[in-house]
Amino acid sequence: MIQQKSSAASGEVMDAISRFLAAPPEGTPAEIIEAFNSFGGGRFLPPKLFLETVEQAPVAISITDASARILYVNHAFEALTGYQRDEVIGHNESMLSSRSTPLSVYQELWKTIQARQVWQGTLVNHKKCKEEYLAELVISPVLTPGGEVSYYLGMHRDITAVHQLGQRLKFQKSLTEAALDAAPMVVAMITAERKVLLDNHAYKALLGDCRGVEPAGLFLDALEQQIDFDLAGACRTGKGFTNVEIRLDLAGSAAPRWFSCSAVRVDELDEAAQNYFKQQEQTRYCLLLIANEVTGSRKRINEVRLNMIRAGMAEQQMVETMREAISGAIFKMQVPFNIIRAALAMPGTGSDQCGVCQVLHQALESGNEAMESLQAALPSRTAEQASMVNINEILHEVMRLSTERLLASGVVVDWRPATVLSSVTGRPNALRGLFKYLIDNAIQAVNESGQDYREIRLQTRQLDQELVVEVMDNGPGIPEAMRLKVFEPFFCGWSRAGEHAGMGLTMAQEVILGHGGSIEIDADFCGGCRVFVRLPINGMGGV
Ligand code: FAD
Repeated sequence: MIQQKSSAASGEVMDAISRFLAAPPEGTPAEIIEAFNSFGGGRFLPPKLFLETVEQAPVAISITDASARILYVNHAFEALTGYQRDEVIGHNESMLSSRSTPLSVYQELWKTIQARQVWQGTLVNHKKCKEEYLAELVISPVLTPGGEVSYYLGMHRDITAVHQLGQRLKFQKSLTEAALDAAPMVVAMITAERKVLLDNHAYKALLGDCRGVEPAGLFLDALEQQIDFDLAGACRTGKGFTNVEIRLDLAGSAAPRWFSCSAVRVDELDEAAQNYFKQQEQTRYCLLLIANEVTGSRKRINEVRLNMIRAGMAEQQMVETMREAISGAIFKMQVPFNIIRAALAMPGTGSDQCGVCQVLHQALESGNEAMESLQAALPSRTAEQASMVNINEILHEVMRLSTERLLASGVVVDWRPATVLSSVTGRPNALRGLFKYLIDNAIQAVNESGQDYREIRLQTRQLDQELVVEVMDNGPGIPEAMRLKVFEPFFCGWSRAGEHAGMGLTMAQEVILGHGGSIEIDADFCGGCRVFVRLPINGMGGV
């Protein structure tokens, strides 16, 4: 009985398939039409061949009447669901429902197929053994020549494994993202073209601190300057690095920030279909950069260092003060001696034997002895080795050393460092002394101006092959006639000279020249004084 029912159904199915192929409904997926047409090259094939094709197709196929009553199922349907065809024919497709699919999905399904459209979606089904699976289903209406729905063609496959894999991937992605976001270090995945593919919360926070400037670019610039790091080369060769400390001087931030950076090469995500079969050597790589902020520990180390520098500078200053005082005394003593020499050289002074001449000669002699003793008493400067120095760091230290004076004078410091600055070869103590002197001068200038608002601006920038430091103050400025004179020894233009001997700028110039650089006072600057210090990046100009 069941057998008869089945062969009758097969006949109906053949008719249905022929009609379906003659006029497939709008939206029918190409693969369905292809599946039926594959052997015919567009021509109709004998129904037996159709049946064999459908029967042996690797996807679960069912054909129902207009109310979803099953008329035919293929072998793959039996294999997937575990039901023999006799057990399903005559029943509604709902027998596969596990009752976990929301009603709204079925409503949408029926709305679509009754409108003679193809429906595609996912349902939760169960097998005969009650095991649940996810069915990816396509339902296509089969129409009568009059355009009425006479049958439905259903094709479905089990996508449970794919779904599970997707879920696992999703879970792993959210786990990785959560771990990355919870991590206190800055993490960024960067392509060889400096594009950031992936980042974390700490990176985004730093992006805010950098006022929108991509931190990855700043890290790469600093690494390039510090260890000659080449991003494209690292992506090519796979050569990473670990624990390289870099310094960032962010605009608007008073203190620098330090990061310990490490990087490894990773495969770049490539979703392009055309690259599916690509060769290994064509794989594109990117860099996973991990930057751990070490500003806190660096601050503590710098504090200790600053105290040592403070003590060193106090000693250095004492030596310089003594040198200035003794040099000043020698300079001043030259005046009476020159007068004596001139008097002795005057015609008609009389013979060397005259009493006055003898006294003058004696005075000259003892004066020369005194000068020699003074020269010998000049404390010598300690020779200092050149090393790689970061001028931002030197200036920052000098500002910290001058904090008390700046506060006492009510001076506002506008600190505008270049975010990333190349290191230069230099003598750190000499450079510190130089900038300390320029800052002290600026403080004295704003104090002398008597203005209510007192400002000193310090700016660093990097030009092609030199670093430029600008020290500006809103004091009275230096009149044009004095702009070269201020560098002369023992020139003092302060209205309150105090302990100044007028050697500071002379010595500052000496230090700069010793570094192969230059110092000048900006002639065009109005409303104060602006001093430019230029230092060569590559070496000390042969010094
Ligand atoms: P029902 O009350 O039967 O249906 C739920 C809602 O669907 C109804 O409230 C109504 O809005 C709509 N609906 C149901 N039948 C009709 C209808 N004849 N006309 C208009 N609206 C209707 N379901 C599965 O769960 N798994 C399958 O693998 C599956 N394969 C299918 C293959 C084909 C070719 C077709 C045509 C349908 C298939 N269905 C399948 C849908 C199935 O026929 C049922 O509609 C569904 O299982 C819900 O049945 P139910 O008894 O839970 O609720």
